[in-house]
Amino acid sequence: MRFHRPGSRSVVAALLVVSVAACGGGGGTFAGGSGVGDPYFPKAGNGGYDVRHYVLDLAYDPRAHHLTGTATITARATEDLSALNLDLRGLDVEEVTVDGVAARWSRAGQELTVRPREAVEGTFRVTVRYAGAPVTVTDPDGSEEGWLRTADGALALGEPVGSMAWFPGNHHPSDKATYSLAVTVPKELRVVSNGEPAGEEREGSRTTYRWRTGEPMASYLATLAVGRYDVRRTATDGGLPVYTAVDPEQAGESRAVLARIPEVLAWAERTFGPYPFSSAGAIVERPEDAGYALETQSRPVFPGAPDIVLLVHEIAHQWYGDSVTPRTWRDMWLNEGFATYAQWLWQEDHGGDTAQRTFDLLYAGSYFPDAGTAEALWSFPPAEPPDAASVSATPVYWRGAMVLHKIRQAVGDDAFFALLRGWAREHRHGNADTGDFTAYVEKAAPGEDFAGIWEEWLYGEGRPERP
Ligand SMILES: [Zn+2]
Repeated sequence: MRFHRPGSRSVVAALLVVSVAACGGGGGTFAGGSGVGDPYFPKAGNGGYDVRHYVLDLAYDPRAHHLTGTATITARATEDLSALNLDLRGLDVEEVTVDGVAARWSRAGQELTVRPREAVEGTFRVTVRYAGAPVTVTDPDGSEEGWLRTADGALALGEPVGSMAWFPGNHHPSDKATYSLAVTVPKELRVVSNGEPAGEEREGSRTTYRWRTGEPMASYLATLAVGRYDVRRTATDGGLPVYTAVDPEQAGESRAVLARIPEVLAWAERTFGPYPFSSAGAIVERPEDAGYALETQSRPVFPGAPDIVLLVHEIAHQWYGDSVTPRTWRDMWLNEGFATYAQWLWQEDHGGDTAQRTFDLLYAGSYFPDAGTAEALWSFPPAEPPDAASVSATPVYWRGAMVLHKIRQAVGDDAFFALLRGWAREHRHGNADTGDFTAYVEKAAPGEDFAGIWEEWLYGEGRPERP
């Protein structure tokens, strides 16, 4: 069963009620559906259930480029389901069971439709056994994600829809879950992922590495890095474990900047509130291994040694994006506008340009060295990217940050920084959309009129007439 469900969550719920009623109510079960109605990625995620926990038991041999996996997904059905979908791209499915009983299944594109022997209700467990050569996914904007082969192993990056290249799941940011991973690789390699290590075992020529993520994580923030890393565990003054994994070629250049992770975390906690996860760190690959940095949860990935500002950007995402996660891909500015504004704040606090000056230069068109990017800043409103290829485009980052600066101008510094912290606290480990944000700001500063900021800066076409 394949159908699109455009519209908001409440519209989706209303449609479901109608469709069940239209069936005459007989049995009262229905197929979960192939998407959650994301405006840009309509087939991402699936309807009818909410994943609680993923157990991924994987083995990867880089030389053969072969992955074998067993994914055990514990989920709660939001309706009685006669069928449910998982997202999985490439790979061969060998067996599917639901609560231990073999289930029928079929595939169409990225949709793996599972038909359990009996309709599922309440909490259930789907196990998928699969194998094959995991694929690299090219995004609508031309960047690469999914499973990236590296000189000595592999790197999995998932924004926005790449994680379905290495495990079946509900691959939409609105469904967050906890994770347990066990990954077996040739003994000369290491495996690094999100969260905390949970042991390693050598058996013959292979080693199994275990990692656990105990806080909810959107699947696009899951990462898996296989290679020859220099792995270190340090801690902040407050005792937060910091795990770094660095490609040996990047070790020299990375040392000084990675040593500043505790300092950046301390600054970010003063600015944004308590760090939302139980460990921190970074993964540094070779520049040619990935085309961009990504804020993979608790352990951002960098293509080569980052500079301090890029490190600040990805660490700020731990609050804005990873803990407070967009409800759909339309809300991407809530990630990138905030992480970009964090860069401005860091520079302001460390002897660089003030956020006001950065804002003024952007408005004047003299911030970016090339006229094309300066012009692209005004190509669409940050809260309404025109298409899937634009969810990571310039206005989402820079004009998104300008929206935050306009709010700061309106309410003043004390109220603004309280607002940054309050937003992170209110939606900690959850999901939020642009409407939630504007409502939050209006409630936090009831004496201010934000209508002009929303109309011109957040939703308005073109360059606002006045800075
Ligand atoms: Zn970012």
